[in-house]
Amino acid sequence: MEHYASLIEAADPVTAAIRIFLHILPHDFMRYLIGAGGVFLLVNVLFAGRLAGRKIRSPAPKAEQMRREFAISMRTTLIFALSGAASVMAAKFGLMDTYYSAGERGWAYFAFTLITLIVAHDAWFYWTHRLIHHPRLFRRIHRTHHKSHNPSPWTAYSFDVGEAVINAAYLPLILFLMPTSVQAIILFLLHMIIRNAMGHCGYELFPSRRDGRPLFDWMTTVTHHDLHHAQAGWNYGLYFTWWDRLIGTEHPLYHEKFAAAVRKPLDGAAVAALGREAAKVIA
Ligand SMILES: [Zn+2]
Ligand SMILES: [Zn+2]
Repeated sequence: MEHYASLIEAADPVTAAIRIFLHILPHDFMRYLIGAGGVFLLVNVLFAGRLAGRKIRSPAPKAEQMRREFAISMRTTLIFALSGAASVMAAKFGLMDTYYSAGERGWAYFAFTLITLIVAHDAWFYWTHRLIHHPRLFRRIHRTHHKSHNPSPWTAYSFDVGEAVINAAYLPLILFLMPTSVQAIILFLLHMIIRNAMGHCGYELFPSRRDGRPLFDWMTTVTHHDLHHAQAGWNYGLYFTWWDRLIGTEHPLYHEKFAAAVRKPLDGAAVAALGREAAKVIA
């Protein structure tokens, strides 16, 4: 962690931690601003006309909702920066092996750590997400996120404090278990914010097959997470559909909804019946 050496050098632990926090905070803020803002600008503003045929639901989120999401997300970036500072300090005291040279342990290991960060995060997200949907926890920890019934890219970090802490805890925990390079962590964080903002944008961006199914059916599409906001109780996964399918929590009309979002016929009759069935399930 030579990168942080100058911030920590000759400083007592508290001063060092504050310096690291103030160094990391703008990174966390910019990641949200560029990630969520970039998806918003591209999808919801510049290409909204061209993507009109892939709008999942109407209406578009209101400006007031997006302002609230942005303000709450600022609090989340503070919590993420605290977690980042804690990780750097833990590395300084030898509690985790985080190194600065990406290829130091070979590129195969680099790829392994990056894939593990993403796959393990998906598992962490699925199970903690199931947990915070428990009625005793939902009101205190997860209600803010679901206030965005029709989400926007700005919903990405719109979390109650408890939910932000659960999400922020993942990285220090996995870094404690797995020696990882800073570059793999940065790529993981970029992938996280882009997939997160995409999942809330309201337009189906993922490619479909001719039969109306997702081309990459093992990945969660925008429709997948959009359905979670439309009707909580289904589709808890973040990046992959594995856990929802294994545990049986995928929305029964997910593929029909996806086909409808990309305006392709899925078994003809299924799409025709979509309106009636969806009304029944959602009611
Ligand atoms: Zn939820
Ligand atoms: Zn969401």
